[in-house]
Amino acid sequence: MLNPIEISELSEIDVTKLKGVGAKKASALRTFEIESLFDLLTHYPRRYIDRTRQAQIVDMVEGEEASILVTVDKTETRRIRGGKVMVTSTVSDETGRLKLTFFNQRWRANQLSEGRQAVIYGKIDFYRGQRQMTNPVVDLVGDKTGRIIPVYPQSEKSGLNSWDVSEWVAETLRRTLPPKGRGFKDPLPEHLLSEYELISRDKALAGIHQPENMGEVVSSRKRLVFDELFRMQLALVLRKRAIERTELGVQHVTDGPLVKQFHANMPFELTGAQQRVVKEIGRGLASSIPMNRLLQGDVGAGKTIVAVSAMLAAVDGGHQAALMAPTEVLAAQHYSSISKLLDGLTVDDPGSLFSDRPLRVELLTNRTTGAARKELLTALQDGAIDIVVGTHALIQESVNFSSLGLAVIDEQHRFGVEQRSALRENSGSDATPDMLVMTATPIPRTAAMTVYGDLDVSILDELPPGRTPIVTHWVNAPGNIDAPGDLISSDELQQMWQGVRSAVEQGRQVYVVCPLIDVSDKLDVASAEVTMEHLAENQLQGLEVGLLHGRLHAEDKDATMAAFSAGELDVLVATTVIEVGVDVPNATVMVILDADRFGIAQLHQLRGRVGRGAHASECWLVAETTTPDSEARMQALVNSTDGFELAEVDLDLRGEGTILGERQKGRNDLKLASLRRDRNTVVQARNAAIQLVDADPGLEVHEALASELESFLDPEDAEFLLKS
Ligand code: ADP
Ligand code: MG
Repeated sequence: MLNPIEISELSEIDVTKLKGVGAKKASALRTFEIESLFDLLTHYPRRYIDRTRQAQIVDMVEGEEASILVTVDKTETRRIRGGKVMVTSTVSDETGRLKLTFFNQRWRANQLSEGRQAVIYGKIDFYRGQRQMTNPVVDLVGDKTGRIIPVYPQSEKSGLNSWDVSEWVAETLRRTLPPKGRGFKDPLPEHLLSEYELISRDKALAGIHQPENMGEVVSSRKRLVFDELFRMQLALVLRKRAIERTELGVQHVTDGPLVKQFHANMPFELTGAQQRVVKEIGRGLASSIPMNRLLQGDVGAGKTIVAVSAMLAAVDGGHQAALMAPTEVLAAQHYSSISKLLDGLTVDDPGSLFSDRPLRVELLTNRTTGAARKELLTALQDGAIDIVVGTHALIQESVNFSSLGLAVIDEQHRFGVEQRSALRENSGSDATPDMLVMTATPIPRTAAMTVYGDLDVSILDELPPGRTPIVTHWVNAPGNIDAPGDLISSDELQQMWQGVRSAVEQGRQVYVVCPLIDVSDKLDVASAEVTMEHLAENQLQGLEVGLLHGRLHAEDKDATMAAFSAGELDVLVATTVIEVGVDVPNATVMVILDADRFGIAQLHQLRGRVGRGAHASECWLVAETTTPDSEARMQALVNSTDGFELAEVDLDLRGEGTILGERQKGRNDLKLASLRRDRNTVVQARNAAIQLVDADPGLEVHEALASELESFLDPEDAEFLLKS
């Protein structure tokens, strides 16, 4: 008997081998990135039409949306005013007739030729007693006989129809599946199939494309989703294990004198979450396996203390620690707060008079120049500096450590993998420094498993006690300054500005955030410059108002920030430059204009600039929402201050594309799986991958899996994951 087909073999067979795929159709297929038979078989139906369960025309209710299966009776094209074209089509089913109207879609005349069957979706109107739909969604289904019709993503304009695709898929399945074909090799071990109740790959491919009933779609989808997520998790777990195998880490001392002193002198108790995370990190530090850990914690959750405690462990063992921040402002801020936290600590120094010296913390950015820079670099190389805080400047070639034991990286999103390895290269020893990546943008747990699946994840999900939750209001009004009257037009807005003034009267400070710097003629959004002038002359007259945006010179930025920190400014009008890290506990009111321009995560970050002190804080979102989506975002912010909860909402609203996009660009082969719908399967796939890799690290026993995975990875990667 011939061997079953490995699914990846299909990647080498061009779709043009199929009957009916000529140059024109091939180019239409390419718009969906379908070039090989593999691409075609994994181009899954967008939805299914169950002929026996479609609504009928007679049942349609005015004003409601419906999907119905109809036959085209007649289609006409007419010119209307302004040289435009209107296509009208009369369609029917056994129960009645319906008129469809399309504006400026001339090609509909060809698409909806007489006798065609189509499923249309739209809102029903009654016009002079006649049912009609304007610009409905149309899916041509062809005159298929099956009960369930798959509907593929299609592009009418490029001439790719759903039924074309289903013909080609059918031909491919005929040639590959028994009885005519050899069938597909199933790389999943038997025990996984039975543990997770998965059907065979042959059945799943047939069932997703040509189901007899909707139950088959469900079980097929389940299997294929598992395959996608399992491949992804296998690659991630293999990568993690390969790093652990090939690199030697530093075994840090986690209960040395510095750590002990630091914890003993802390002015407050660690939260439960901080204690747990300190322990988790401690285990990673103490182990000889290099640590690669992501620390997720909402704004204000107290990540700094946790990171500093870890850095002290490195220093206790005679190593150095580095903290890298994405901007100069943040680096300077970290430097000053860390210096304060560590003030008075000393490290052993046998060569000195009293056998110790003060712990030395320094700041290194591109603004450190000349002699100061030279001295600093020498001191880093000599080991005279224990902790260095900085920006990207830390990973320049000229920076060499005596012995870097731990690198803490703040705000992962702006740091790439290459930068991580650059830091590793100049560490001054053969051992790989431990890495702790901190992010204040929580992502849901299952998304973290996927996006950061090659890292360990620690979560700070508890805020220190005594914080008054931020009260958030949404004002449904335009935050528009082109027509300055708009900023004061509604009662709610007046109330808002009054709130701002009274906060200032009580000695508090206020942020006003606008999306852009200049007034742009294209975008009707509040701009910081104009907003500042306008507010200073009107709503905020008599108050000290400052301006902060990205295009100011660094010195001006610093001066403004310093003035605001010192309480010399009452109000800071700013763009999103204040999004990360700015810490002024006396600021208690945050006004965000045109808030609908921002995503949930960003709004949450911005809001996190207030509520950092003992005083009650508020946040005002000014947004005239135009879509259900933006309204849902505003409501989410009003209803919750929990970053993890908001991350879940965000995932529901936006889908996973954006989250995956951040790190997985180009290697996202999730075609069917959704991190949202398939949350449970993500967890199952991860557990299965961990078990399997731990039992068989080189996938030697699971040869079929190894070979499938190899075909999905680039060769270098595969080599590293499977052979090292
Ligand atoms: P993050 O970096 O997670 O946004 P920070 O580390 O800046 O948060 O901490 C925010 C504030 O909370 C700081 O002023 C810090 O001193 C304080 N803080 C941290 N942990 C605690 C705690 N356990 N109890 C009280 N205050 C804390
Ligand atoms: Mg270690």
